[in-house]
Amino acid sequence: MSDTARLLQELIRLDTTNPPGNETAAAHLLRDYLEAAGVECELFARVPERANLVARIRGRGDGPSLALLSHTDVVLADAREWERNPFGGELVDGEVWGRGALDMKGEVAASAVALASLAREGWRGSGDLIFIAAADEEVGDGFGLEWLVEAHPDAVRADFSVNEGAGDRVELGGKVLYLCSTAEKMSSPFVLRVHGRSGHASMPSIADNALVKAAPLVARLGAFDVEPQLIPEVEGFLAALFGEVPATASALDAARAVSPLAAELIEPLLGMTVSPTMASASGKRNVIPALCEITVDVRLLPGQTPAQAETALRACLGEGDYELVNTEAQGGTRSAISGPLWDAVRDFVQTEEPGAVAAPICVAGFTDSHWLRAAFGTVAYGFFPARALDAETAARLIHSANERVPVSDLELGTRWLRHAAQSVCA
Ligand SMILES: [Zn+2]
Repeated sequence: MSDTARLLQELIRLDTTNPPGNETAAAHLLRDYLEAAGVECELFARVPERANLVARIRGRGDGPSLALLSHTDVVLADAREWERNPFGGELVDGEVWGRGALDMKGEVAASAVALASLAREGWRGSGDLIFIAAADEEVGDGFGLEWLVEAHPDAVRADFSVNEGAGDRVELGGKVLYLCSTAEKMSSPFVLRVHGRSGHASMPSIADNALVKAAPLVARLGAFDVEPQLIPEVEGFLAALFGEVPATASALDAARAVSPLAAELIEPLLGMTVSPTMASASGKRNVIPALCEITVDVRLLPGQTPAQAETALRACLGEGDYELVNTEAQGGTRSAISGPLWDAVRDFVQTEEPGAVAAPICVAGFTDSHWLRAAFGTVAYGFFPARALDAETAARLIHSANERVPVSDLELGTRWLRHAAQSVCA
């Protein structure tokens, strides 16, 4: 069996469910594996049980550095929902089962094997090849990469980085695309507050019902719409799909004509999205609420600001007696879709599957790539290719029951990470 699959099995058998994490167990396993291949390792921990591992093959000179970035924590698994032990790491019909197989101990293992195999071959790049197995990505309580870039910037600074986020193989209208995430949307939620006057529910006329006043505002947010715009990531995706970029106004229809999946991929990337998701008003059935709070999930395109979002939301809501407050702004960084790492992705895809092409994409979710981009201007991509497992099945298994990964995809991923190192740090 492959080294990557075997290492993944061992990683899955260490329960690093976050919270509480306990990632130090994984950091020790990886350190022992890498040190046996002669790779220099260092642990960084804010608290002893939540260590991050940084390993490094030093470059010959000061050429570009590449960080293989991953996280060792996983989300909760409810064993009752699973057909197999989520921490068993069983190999069944060519697939390794367990929590983290896809998100993302598979890539952790592939990254470690890429480093160890290169070290054993005596390979050295012009710049450093770095392996960062971070803690605490799933919760983000400040024990992982967010803390590392602040507390130990010299340990994790890199010119380029490969992380999770994409790598899916999709067939659209007869064309095969491998998606590479080069950007992330910003999560910028708002709270809408509507005030009224409380009163007994049996006498509605003496009160001023904040919930009723909020209703039309919620409806307006539900109908929020913007003029579509084509960000570079969508232009790149459309160019890969069509060979040219269609006009902005007709881009969505053109994608839909190819396949519903193509439209699904680009629709949330044509502008900011707005979804009212939570509401709170009276805590008692017989009390008319004086306050109604609506939480609005808002996702911005890379480059857009919460201030721009607020202007757009106020224009949508119109004049009225309400407060609108931005509660958070996270992510929203991007990297250029060109240069040595992009070339490495493109070449790898063409070599592995002649006729297939690499296509950039902007993802809605947040990954640790953001911290490297924000701290060091790192060109960070989410790319861990999958061919045996189709994208739809993978999406269903991540953070869910029966998570598993085909060994052949682990092998594909390991080849990719070796290729990335050898081309970027050449
Ligand atoms: Zn993850």
